[in-house]
Amino acid sequence: MKQGMFDRNSASRYQTIYHDKDEGAWLVQRIAVLGVPIANITEDETVALMGEMIASRRPHHVVTVNPEFLMEAQRNGAFRRVLLEADLALPDGVGILIAGHLQGCPFRARVAGSDLVERLAAESARHGWRLYFLGAAPGVAEQAIARLKTRYPTFQAVGAYAGSPTPEETPDLIARVRAAQPDVLFVAYGHPRQDLWIAANKEALGVPVMMGVGGAFDFLAGIVPRAPRRMRQMGLEWLYRLYKQPWRWRRMLALPQFLVLATLEAIHRRKERRR
Ligand code: UDP
Repeated sequence: MKQGMFDRNSASRYQTIYHDKDEGAWLVQRIAVLGVPIANITEDETVALMGEMIASRRPHHVVTVNPEFLMEAQRNGAFRRVLLEADLALPDGVGILIAGHLQGCPFRARVAGSDLVERLAAESARHGWRLYFLGAAPGVAEQAIARLKTRYPTFQAVGAYAGSPTPEETPDLIARVRAAQPDVLFVAYGHPRQDLWIAANKEALGVPVMMGVGGAFDFLAGIVPRAPRRMRQMGLEWLYRLYKQPWRWRRMLALPQFLVLATLEAIHRRKERRR
C-alpha cells in the first residue's frame, strides 16, 4: 500500500473490506458523497480496523462524517482537505445513508461516533486499550468516564482534559496526551474544529486512533439525552436532537440543503454510469 493502511484510489474494486496479504494492508470499499469518499463498513469491522491501527502504533485520523460535515466542507477548503486526507471516514448520520441509496450504492451500516465511544470502552475492558478524553465542558468527560465505568468496570481511561486549547496551549496539551500513552484519543471540540486540530497535530500527538466525537461526552455523561434506540434505528436521531436542542435549527438547515446536493450528485453519477 503506497499511502498507508487504506487504499485511496481503487476502493471500488473491492466488495466491502479486504485484507491484501501481499501489501499487508486493509482495503475498504468507499462511496463518494459530495466528493468525499466514505467507508462502506460496519461497526464490527471498524473496531477490527481500529485494532489494526493500534497494533501498527502509527497515528491515524478517523472522521465521523455527517451531512453537516459535508456542507461545511463545501465552503471550508481546509476542512474538506482534512476529510479527504483522513485515514478512515465513517458514515455517521442517516443523511449519508440516504445519499448512498440515491446513488444506487447503499451503505451497509451507519457507524456513529457516539456509539463508537461506548463500544471502544467495552473493547478497552476486553483488550486493555487505553482511552484519552479531550474536550467538552469541565467535568463532563469525567462524568462520562464514571458512567462508562459502571458498565465496563475494567475499561482504561488514561486521561481527560476539558475545553479546547488556544494555539499557545496546544504544545503543553500534546505533551500531556503523549505522557499518558493512549491507544485511542477522543476529541470533543465540535466540528470542524476537532478534526482540524487532530489533523494539524497528528504526527506530534502520535496516537494510533484519533477521532473527533462532537457531543458524545455530553450524551454519555447524561447531560444531553440521546434519542431512544428505536428512533435512532428509524433514522430520526436528528429530529429528537432538534426537539431537545431547538437552538440547533439553523445548523440543521444543512440537512435539506445536503439532500438537494446529494440528489443532484446521484443523478449525475447514474448518468455517468449509463455512458
Ligand atoms: N466544545 C469544546 N470546545 C469548544 C467547542 C465545543 O470543548 O470550543 C465541546 C462542547 O462542550 C460539546 C462538543 O464540543 O461537548 C460539541 O458538541 P456538538 O454536539 O455541538 O458537536 P458537533 O455537532 O459540532 O460536532
